[in-house]
Amino acid sequence: MTNSFLSTSIEYLKGVGPKRAEILKKELRIFTYDHLLTHFPFRYIDRSKVHKISEVKSDESYVQLKGKISNVKEAGTKGGKRLIAYLQDETGVMELIWFKGAKWIKPKLIIGKEFIVFGKPSQFNSSFNLVHPDLEEKPTVTDIVANLQPVYSSTDLANATGLNTKGIEKLTKTLVSGIKNQIPETLPQSLIQELKLMPRERAYREIHHPQSADLLKKAIFRLKFEEFFFLQLRLLKQKIIQEQKLKGFVFEKVGESFNQFFTTKLPFELTNAQKRVVKEIRVDVGSGKHMNRLLQGDVGSGKTLVGLLAMLIAKDNGFQSLLMAPTEILAIQHYATISGYLEGTGVTVALLTGSSKKSERAVIHEQLLSGELDLLIGTHALLEDIVQFKNLGLAIIDEQHRFGVKQRSKLWKKNNIPPHILVMTATPIPRTLAMTVYGDLDISVIDELPPGRKEISTTHKFDKDRLYVFKFMEKQIAEGRQVYVVYPLIEESEHLDFKDLMDGYESMARRFPLPNYKLSIVHGKMKAKDKEYEMQQFAKGFTNIMVATTVIEVGVNVPNATVMVIESANKFGLSQLHQLRGRVGRGSDKSYCVLMTDYKLSPTAKTRIETMVRTNDGFEIAEEDLKLRGPGDILGTQQSGILDLKLGDLIKDKQIVVAARNIATELLKQDPDLSLQENYLVRQRLAYLIKLKPNWGRIS
Ligand code: ADP
Ligand code: MG
Repeated sequence: MTNSFLSTSIEYLKGVGPKRAEILKKELRIFTYDHLLTHFPFRYIDRSKVHKISEVKSDESYVQLKGKISNVKEAGTKGGKRLIAYLQDETGVMELIWFKGAKWIKPKLIIGKEFIVFGKPSQFNSSFNLVHPDLEEKPTVTDIVANLQPVYSSTDLANATGLNTKGIEKLTKTLVSGIKNQIPETLPQSLIQELKLMPRERAYREIHHPQSADLLKKAIFRLKFEEFFFLQLRLLKQKIIQEQKLKGFVFEKVGESFNQFFTTKLPFELTNAQKRVVKEIRVDVGSGKHMNRLLQGDVGSGKTLVGLLAMLIAKDNGFQSLLMAPTEILAIQHYATISGYLEGTGVTVALLTGSSKKSERAVIHEQLLSGELDLLIGTHALLEDIVQFKNLGLAIIDEQHRFGVKQRSKLWKKNNIPPHILVMTATPIPRTLAMTVYGDLDISVIDELPPGRKEISTTHKFDKDRLYVFKFMEKQIAEGRQVYVVYPLIEESEHLDFKDLMDGYESMARRFPLPNYKLSIVHGKMKAKDKEYEMQQFAKGFTNIMVATTVIEVGVNVPNATVMVIESANKFGLSQLHQLRGRVGRGSDKSYCVLMTDYKLSPTAKTRIETMVRTNDGFEIAEEDLKLRGPGDILGTQQSGILDLKLGDLIKDKQIVVAARNIATELLKQDPDLSLQENYLVRQRLAYLIKLKPNWGRIS
């Protein structure tokens, strides 16, 4: 639905003209009335209050003062020339300063004359002044603006041509005051009434030039709701269409393999959360629809086992499965655990990674095609086209955040009907965000750790406390426990970091010498075989200390390790720190995480460290991470456009998101094609949005 008013080219607005239009288009991407209307203020200044000069105590917010000019002078020489006026009220004196435009302003500044001035204080030594304030002469009561003044973002270039916040304010004022029944409603009347929403046109007017704080709040709510509502509607529609199109294999029974494993092999009770998720998966795979499910569960919550149970159900129904992990170390470990579990059950399993030998590969390829192999565990190597199955029914991706979208979509093509997909992650994101970002995935959550786990104590230590940390390691090792020491090696090729690691290893080896102590080292530059050997030495308890880079970040499981020392902890992201910490606390012994840094910490690094010390809860950590970095950064979805919101914030506006989602769900339940008369506006708006951004969407 194109609307002729909204799509009017911006140069037709009074006060714009061709030259300014050019700037608006180039600098601010404002081509039409619609674009100007959605160039929302990013904050507002309250000009209803007049401050006393003595009240000015910080340079954080704007102030409005009323007083008389008591003196005027010019100071400085040529380059640094400035005009200074002194404004006096009954509480004190404020310096007003101009570096430019003295010629125009000076004549106005008559001593004894009354002014209202408005500006942002700057601090100079212990006193404040206002640089280039707004001036209003002969103030009457009505000169004190009784409402909130919008502040718009602009660019340096636009600023220089008068299109600063003031200039833009003038334009939006012109535009908004000319509007009468030109902005069509997009939501059904019944919904507007039910939620007491402000009509759309009114909301646009109020958001630019609010008459009161209350009306502004209502306007913002209305527009945010609309934004989220259409976002959710689009996601839900997409999902419905996909589900209609996609048929899935039916795993109708739970059979011999599952039951045998469950009754004779499973070494512990499933947690309630694990049981619930297994049930959710069973319902999915038994229904004839295609499962596309995200399993979120904190580090150590037992996701692997859930994956294994799902694979056994596949096996019982005559299908093969694969489990893909992001690192070789993790794939090897999964293989070791799972093949151990499956011994004697008749279920066959193989490991395929980048370092599998050619001859081994040939055998695996053959057994996959013949159906002799039930389970394939491996790394990216599984994605290669040559890896073909007789009948792949289920693909599981562990630590899915480590994989790209393309890699995941390759799995869909491994059978003529796409296999069921289960992606697992220990980087939990809040449900509202997950629902949006992974709009086409169903979500399961394991929100419970196996019994008997103890909180991991986390402390922050400075480099000078190193001797104390060593002493602590020594004590733990004396009690038979093992220790990880991790160095940041973000880019495995970085020279300097590598030196840190090797230096660290050497000093560790001096402090913990043979024959009493044995050390392992693992880093990305080592050959896979050597890595595996070192890992095995540590896993079997033959070595006491594992010095490593983040190659051990995800998944690694050595229950006897109780201490995680993270060097230069400030260099790691929050979720990475949490993942690393998750390498300990896997057994019944009390575990510890020590975050080492030097004194210099950036504010965000400080927040990260404090968060780690405060909590063990992966969801809480994920929320903090989102606040620090923003969702696009974390999910690698900047490109998808889903997070491209004008007003809303998926984290801060959680409640509106949930409401919008629920209402959209309900609406589609009653009217899946939006064909009812009362949903006409919604259908039109949705069609328009889809036309506007056709390639928006899928990331999973
Ligand atoms: P993650 O969710 O981080 O992948 P894992 O699957 O590696 O966690 O499980 C962590 C540890 O917890 C493993 O040693 C596993 O055997 C154990 N575990 C899993 N489920 C249970 C359970 N229900 N009870 C006791 N231990 C469990
Ligand atoms: Mg895991």
